[in-house]
Amino acid sequence: MLLVSSPVLGVPEKAALAKVIDSGWLTMGERVRAFEEAFALMHEAEDCVAVSSCTAALHLILHGLGIGPGDEVLVPSLTFVATANAVLYVGATPVFVDIESADVPLMSLKEAEARCSPRTRAVILVHFAGYLADKDAWQAFASARGLSIIEDAAHAPGLKAVGTFGAGAAFSFYGNKNMTTAEGGAVIARDPQLLDRIRQARAHGMTTGTRQRLNSRTAHYDVTMLGFNYRMDEMRAAIGLVQLQNLQEWNEIRRILVVLYRRLIALRCPAITIPFEEPRASAYHIMPILLPRYVNRQHVVDELRAQDIQTTVHYPPVHQMTLYRELYPGTHLPRTEDFAERELTIPLHPQITAPAVEAVVDVLATALNSGIHAGTAA
Ligand SMILES: *Cc1c(COP(=O)(O)O)cnc(C)c1O
Repeated sequence: MLLVSSPVLGVPEKAALAKVIDSGWLTMGERVRAFEEAFALMHEAEDCVAVSSCTAALHLILHGLGIGPGDEVLVPSLTFVATANAVLYVGATPVFVDIESADVPLMSLKEAEARCSPRTRAVILVHFAGYLADKDAWQAFASARGLSIIEDAAHAPGLKAVGTFGAGAAFSFYGNKNMTTAEGGAVIARDPQLLDRIRQARAHGMTTGTRQRLNSRTAHYDVTMLGFNYRMDEMRAAIGLVQLQNLQEWNEIRRILVVLYRRLIALRCPAITIPFEEPRASAYHIMPILLPRYVNRQHVVDELRAQDIQTTVHYPPVHQMTLYRELYPGTHLPRTEDFAERELTIPLHPQITAPAVEAVVDVLATALNSGIHAGTAA
């Protein structure tokens, strides 16, 4: 089966894991610290905090900024549900904002302006599919209104501009992301005080960690804020250190595969449109395509699946999930809804070969032709 995404794991990861086990120190030790330093360096940041997931990272940033009940946070609906869930965790209200267009499925600045209220405190930008939001425009928007910018950078690790937009950026190392630690995440925040608060809140709000207490031979610690258990462990950090060494090369392979997909699809399936026609910085996390309205998507999915090619949809809109429909009934985001109805995500990861890309486009071309009839019949 050709999967939509697949982690690259091998002997170096196994060796790194074995070393951790031999060391006898399993969590929040020197490997977590080394991973934080290496990840920060790649993004030209002073420092970062490794955590248990991107969801935890988003929660910690909102918590660290003191966002809470009565506050509103602008979020896209074309994202993974965690982006909006994190806003609910701190008791604030997520306000869903439509995308710009089918070609630029990132949060619309114009719509964001329209959704601002005196209670708006922050905006969470998602670099959808790895493509960076417009930094200058969002910084102007946020500074004019005194809002914090939070980047949900789950799709865009490895890009230098990520983590420079505003208050902080949250990264994911889940198994289907550009690099993985199985479960895991990180926070980049340029304000050292905010990053300190996040570091403390990651481990129960305690003033020192287990390792520090071992080194300083004192058992004393205090708890000076409400914290969580969002720690990363040494096994994950060890895998992360290996993965990080490959991230730039993997992102480059992804880019080349996307160029090939774009060329072949334009040639063989001109009815398909591919978002982000204009070049922009990207970590090429996924390969989204938009089917023409007259084609039955399920038919295309079935045809690809019959040839052992997996597809997914990014994303079923968050505002249409039962939880969010019940919380915020009547939310209508026409461009997000249209995009989500036509979107199909085809395989993209560093182990895909050029012939595999050609095979996917072959099946797509055939499925599209027969899909017109399937669509008419439906
Ligand atoms: C994967 C993902 C998350 C959640 O990441 P976890 O590490 O699984 O918590 C959040 N936002 C986006 C956009 C994602 O793709």
